Amino acid sequence: MKPIVAIVGRPNVGKSTLFNRLLGHRRAMVDDSPGVTRDRNYADISRFDKPFILIDTGGFEPVTEDRLLQQMREQSTMAMEEADVILFMMDARSGLTPADIEVAKMLRRVKKPVFYLVNKVDGDKLEHESAEFYTLGVDRFYTISAEHNRGVLDMVDDLMDTL
Ligand code: GDP
Ligand code: MG
Repeated sequence: MKPIVAIVGRPNVGKSTLFNRLLGHRRAMVDDSPGVTRDRNYADISRFDKPFILIDTGGFEPVTEDRLLQQMREQSTMAMEEADVILFMMDARSGLTPADIEVAKMLRRVKKPVFYLVNKVDGDKLEHESAEFYTLGVDRFYTISAEHNRGVLDMVDDLMDTL
């Protein structure tokens, strides 16, 4: 069976952008069955050294503030149960948020590899400003730009070593 890699993180950090980036092309995030809220998107990725199943989690619909933590808990729990590797994505532009801290706490308990990604680091300036993320007590961060394809392949290299 192929290993499962799940991308988690709060809405708008760039999960789907990374999903499409790893897929190598855009995939419409629409659901053709009305009334069904789709909260996951799966892709079979075989363009790197090792094949894997990629899951893009949560929130193709706007989510209210009070639903946010709930949704992130569900998302993280699913990833912790189903995935072999978790990509936890944060956003350098909005900085570290309480929701990020909460999810990071949950993920600390999981005995699976977790990659901590700080996305939207489009240039060197933000690279240097992402120091606040180290307050999470994580050893290694990947500062990436999913949109501009910066740092993504370095992260994938390490992912391949982990799979
Ligand atoms: P999701 O809700 O986590 O799936 O986030 P999306 O992938 O839908 O992206 C949310 C917004 O962030 C979109 O407007 C993206 O274009 C933007 N975005 C995603 N990745 C990057 C990035 O690397 N840099 C910048 N500047 N914007 C990004
Ligand atoms: Mg999305």
